[in-house]
Amino acid sequence: MKAAEIMAKLQAKHAEEKEFLQAAEEVLNSIEEIYNQHPEFEKAHIVERLVEPDRIFTFRVAWVDDKGEVQTNIGYRVQFNAAIGPYKGGLRFHKAVNLSMLKFLGFEQIFKNALTTLPMGGAKGGSDFDPVGKSDAEIMRFCQAFMLELWKCIGPDTDVPAGDVGVGGREIGYMYGMYKKLAREYNTGVLTGKGATWGGSILRPEATGFGALYFVENLLKEHGKDIKGKKVALSGFGNVAWGAAIKTNQLGGKVVAISGPDGVCELPDGITDEMIDYMLEMRSSNRNKVEDMATKFPGKAKFTAGKKAWSVPCDIALPCAFQNELSEEDAKELKANGCWCCCEVSNMGCQPGAIHFFQTNGVYFAPGKAVNAGGVATSGLEITQNAAHLAWSGEEVDAKLHWIMKSIHEQCVKYGRKADGSIDYVKGANVAGFMKVATAMLEQGIL
Ligand code: GLU
Repeated sequence: MKAAEIMAKLQAKHAEEKEFLQAAEEVLNSIEEIYNQHPEFEKAHIVERLVEPDRIFTFRVAWVDDKGEVQTNIGYRVQFNAAIGPYKGGLRFHKAVNLSMLKFLGFEQIFKNALTTLPMGGAKGGSDFDPVGKSDAEIMRFCQAFMLELWKCIGPDTDVPAGDVGVGGREIGYMYGMYKKLAREYNTGVLTGKGATWGGSILRPEATGFGALYFVENLLKEHGKDIKGKKVALSGFGNVAWGAAIKTNQLGGKVVAISGPDGVCELPDGITDEMIDYMLEMRSSNRNKVEDMATKFPGKAKFTAGKKAWSVPCDIALPCAFQNELSEEDAKELKANGCWCCCEVSNMGCQPGAIHFFQTNGVYFAPGKAVNAGGVATSGLEITQNAAHLAWSGEEVDAKLHWIMKSIHEQCVKYGRKADGSIDYVKGANVAGFMKVATAMLEQGIL
């Protein structure tokens, strides 16, 4: 297989799907070498089949807003690949959601889920519904209307959605309630990220951020370093940044920045527990403004409009917000200000030029599908608890999450070690995930 030829065909077929093409190109370039050492993959057209989703559902979501007006959105579920387990992946509610975005996220999810060591296929869904400025009642009505269509596509052994940008515990609660009413079954395993009193796993809300920091710990240890006293810049202030901030503090690092679409908050003395709690309030207010942190904590948080977290000097940069949020220019600014490590916590948080710059300028870089896999891994642990009708303690979940993140790091090292001894984490993560999925596809025949 020639990655460039397959990409040219994909480009001709899906010219509008920029994010999906970007995600596919990164994976195909990484796996080309190992793929060509396996003629059985070529014969079975593994790659040609892998880049097309198994199926895509799109549906209209009509709901009534607080003014009594009818609103219409589009809902999606992309069931990408179920070679190693039932479809699994989050739901994103954001005004920019379209098929390209969900295909990129579903494609990434295939390899990420394979890295977790758990049996989960790849999927993603969501809607172009914009939660910004919506009341709680509007969020509930939208979630219920969305589930009216989605419920027929999902099930504990079929497809298990969860949260993503714009979908947290509150939204999962409203969707689960509607699912239960429609299906007339208390099927907890159908969604993950549920409340802890009704089937949710302890630590699931924190898991993406905690897992990311466990990955960072492993990466730093591999290179003879640690996080104590290091300055960490985070982007965003949502669920992922919240978990990452808690764990950075616990491990002795210092969070020097958080950000939002409106600008950046510099935190010269680090982030306090009170400020971390306030991140949750900022998120549930649906205002989407990080400036609120500076208003609430004057003197401790300094807001600058229109600037990114990457303008604040740091040792470690952790993109926690949205795809392509860190450009090549940002990467150069980070490096010039002393940054020597960047681990993507958001999915595809760095643009290709930024990744290339980091990799060729001595900045350790690891991709989202390895770094943020603790979230979906803990979803996998939630499914296991639901299937067994029991709940594990926080210690038990945390111990498993530690082990999973260590194992993901080991897989990256195994497949990403270069001749000069350095580690290409992008290649390592892509090849490790791909080998597991490709072998399963081969063994299950042409489908
Ligand atoms: N949305 C998260 C991700 O990108 C979590 C998905 C899940 O828990 O299913 O991996």
